[in-house]
Amino acid sequence: MSGIRGRDTGPERLIRSALHRLGFRFRLHPADVPGRPDLILPRYNAALFVHGCFWHGHDCSLFRLPGTHREFWRTKIRRNIERDAEVARLLAQLGWRQLTIWECAFRGPDSIGIEEAVRRTARWITSRRGRGEIRGRT
Ligand SMILES: [Zn+2]
Repeated sequence: MSGIRGRDTGPERLIRSALHRLGFRFRLHPADVPGRPDLILPRYNAALFVHGCFWHGHDCSLFRLPGTHREFWRTKIRRNIERDAEVARLLAQLGWRQLTIWECAFRGPDSIGIEEAVRRTARWITSRRGRGEIRGRT
């Protein structure tokens, strides 16, 4: 439920193949981990999500409520945000470190570029840091 228009999106695939080239090994969309993260790296206790800024209600320039059916969208996105918070809580309880890679990191006017996003992702994975995020410039 975290992809941008479904699961196997371009940026997610790019990040995945770059991490693979760097020697990281992972599993995709594991059904037995809360929220079915886009990637998990069991060796690092790391769960990664690539989040679409619209669907997940990100506080950034890519998020804007559509002009019509605003109440519908507001409710839907609020539920997604609540679900994300619940997933984060469960993951933390189970000892997973969680990284959210936001769409605005590699798309739109505030993008930092896919290569920089991958660099930061790799750094976070090998760090001992807990919850982290990679996003466009703020
Ligand atoms: Zn965003």
